[in-house]
Amino acid sequence: MPVTQRELFPVAEEPTPAPAAPVSLYAEVVFDRPLDQAYTYGVPDSLLGSISVGGRVLAPFGKGDRPTPGFCVGLTDQSPTKTVKRLIRALDDRALVTPELMRLTRWMADYYLCGWGQVLNAVIPAGVKERSGTRNAIFLEALPEAVLPDPLPGLSGKQQLALDKLRAAGEPVEIRMLAQRANCGLGPIVALVDKKLARRFVRRVEADLASTPGADATRLAIDATGLAPEPEEAIPEPSVELNVDQLQAWKPIAQALQKGGYHAFLLHGVTGSGKTEIYLRAMEEVVRQGKEVLILVPEISLTPQTIQRFKTRCRSVAVLHSHLGSAERGGHWRRAASGQVQVVVGARSAVFAPTRKLGLIVIDEEHEGSFKQESTPRYHARDVAVMRARLQEIPIILGSATPSFESWHNAERGNYSLLKLPNRVLDLPMPQVALVDLRHELPVPSRFRAISPALERVMRDTLRDKGQVMLLLNRRGFSTHVHCPSCGHVESCLHCDLALTYHRQSERMLCHYCGYKQDPPRQCPKCGKMEVRYQGLGTEKLLTEIEERFPGTVVRRMDSDSMRRPGSHGRILSAFRRGLIDILVGTQMIAKGLDFPNVMLVGVVNADMGLHVPDFRSAERTFQLLSQVAGRAGRGPRGGRVLVQTFNPDQPCVFLAAQHDFEAFVKLEMAHRREHNYPPYQRLARLIVRSKKADKAAAFADRLAADFDHAMKALKLPGTIRLLGPAEAPVFRLKGFCRFHFQLQSASPAALHQLLRTVLSGVRPPAGVEFTLDIDPLNML
Ligand code: ADP
Ligand code: ZN
Repeated sequence: MPVTQRELFPVAEEPTPAPAAPVSLYAEVVFDRPLDQAYTYGVPDSLLGSISVGGRVLAPFGKGDRPTPGFCVGLTDQSPTKTVKRLIRALDDRALVTPELMRLTRWMADYYLCGWGQVLNAVIPAGVKERSGTRNAIFLEALPEAVLPDPLPGLSGKQQLALDKLRAAGEPVEIRMLAQRANCGLGPIVALVDKKLARRFVRRVEADLASTPGADATRLAIDATGLAPEPEEAIPEPSVELNVDQLQAWKPIAQALQKGGYHAFLLHGVTGSGKTEIYLRAMEEVVRQGKEVLILVPEISLTPQTIQRFKTRCRSVAVLHSHLGSAERGGHWRRAASGQVQVVVGARSAVFAPTRKLGLIVIDEEHEGSFKQESTPRYHARDVAVMRARLQEIPIILGSATPSFESWHNAERGNYSLLKLPNRVLDLPMPQVALVDLRHELPVPSRFRAISPALERVMRDTLRDKGQVMLLLNRRGFSTHVHCPSCGHVESCLHCDLALTYHRQSERMLCHYCGYKQDPPRQCPKCGKMEVRYQGLGTEKLLTEIEERFPGTVVRRMDSDSMRRPGSHGRILSAFRRGLIDILVGTQMIAKGLDFPNVMLVGVVNADMGLHVPDFRSAERTFQLLSQVAGRAGRGPRGGRVLVQTFNPDQPCVFLAAQHDFEAFVKLEMAHRREHNYPPYQRLARLIVRSKKADKAAAFADRLAADFDHAMKALKLPGTIRLLGPAEAPVFRLKGFCRFHFQLQSASPAALHQLLRTVLSGVRPPAGVEFTLDIDPLNML
């Protein structure tokens, strides 16, 4: 009779802890809750040896003692003073979190004022928690001669063959493999165990990724654009001689790598100055020392081209990013955890990669806002990475053409060593940037067009010379607002105080924040007039305009709408690189990191888009975006130019970006920050109170503010901390919630933390009200 796996290994019911038996070991457990508190549980004898610090456990918790997953953060034999409940079982067969990551996550819980369990939960990818990509496999191992029964039992032919195959293997063999090799069913194999010639055990193994559907299928899918997928051949990365500037930057890094220990470098290099070459050198050096390297890049620059550059210079690279399926991601994560990779490349959450012997961290484009997580735990991967480097006593390199003010300030104060690459490699000039003053260039408003005559002229010249054009417009959709000319009504989201964007391709009005959709109105919903106007410019409309005005050219759009399908990103870029596309229109997605030598013109359709956002960083962001996109031009021998259309040519962030003068801009803008006590001079914490009911949110915000006032006096902090607000958030209604916010500013992070801890530890918002705390916030809306 065939034996099933279930009969071989009956699944044990969850053991009910015997209350009588005393325990000798206690576990400290944290849960995925905002509470920063550990709970003590007894470890039943049956679980001794299977519970480890950094592993997950199932424990009775909360109402009704529901079995709840948590992380074991400590083990002790000290019995607690009061009686404790017992763990139900272990969820992992080994610790998921290394001791270094335990320390790092502990620091995060303290710094970001959230639960340690929340942090740990965010650190482990879903694919690892679900163990997708792995399966339980039953292995058979031949027992050594010394322990074989005497006399030896008799064996059937099939049993003998199975035993021979097992011994010949010289290592445990998965039973289904053994059955295959011995060409038998499971019966003879089970008999070997019954006859005490072999032992069986369960081990988790990687599921065969090749057999999971979807992994390769997407790569082969033909895109609607009809563009062929990116060829997979390796682009060899030539080992170049470092130039004089690079050598000067490399020297202190090489020294730090030799010496070991914590050292932070800020590598400020203009676009195309050879920063990546420095990362690659450092990576090779660390790999030579037998250690591992962690490289963080913004999600958006995690292109095949980028990954390939790292892959050609070392043996084993694991890639962690959100486009991977959870199984694939889990596989990479486990490979890193088992010490099989030399280099981990990934986006934000890769900062938690479970390496064995980390020797270096690199963060490219360190100023990028996408390194900040906008949900709990609201960490900034750059800051976490710096802390990780400190804790593990290793060097870290932060690189950017436009460093964040926070990092620049750290360099000025001597916390980071500043290294500069002021020139492009091979004496390539920086692209010439010309401003097009829309105040003078614009024709009659009724004939408004996105492309000014000046830009159009240069586009035509470029196309005639067989150069390629990139056009940046940082807003997707067709029309950015739809309004009624009679009564002035603007169609806005049902749940947010935000105008709906009209998307022509899908014939829908869309909220870019919450995803709310509706059909475009035929008449004004307010006054009933039959006329509605579509205004404001998105990438869809720009594409249409260009197709009309440049017939016969191939134009493609790249934004998050057109890039939904997996692989479409790579296909468009590949086609662009091969010259199959003349004009590429896109949002900030096209602004970063791309290196196409034949791009001879970059046009910025509207430089002012982010300028009037009520956020003290709007100038910094505008400067960054303009510098980044300008950096896409002139990367080849034929040079290139940049045209920036703007209504604000006198704004420093616009004209200094055009002059590639980061240092002048920093100096000017930093003075402004200092004057207003904004970061990086002072620390900021932002609290948001939200509720579906405006009055409830307002009342709680007022109460919280009063608590802060009170605590500041009690702690004698008024001079050190400033409380701004509460006030309505700039976008008051969001996703159906009414939002109030306030900010706390302080020159002393310690005082700020002390205050927050004092006030928030006692606070429970009333039913229907929620609040979030954002330390070092980037989003001020
Ligand atoms: P960045 O990261 O600063 O934008 P990269 O490191 O990508 O710059 O360098 C831009 C291009 O110049 C790459 O193609 C790179 O291979 C090449 N490059 C880098 N350093 C040198 C060098 N010293 N000599 C010649 N070419 C170089
Ligand atoms: Zn909305």
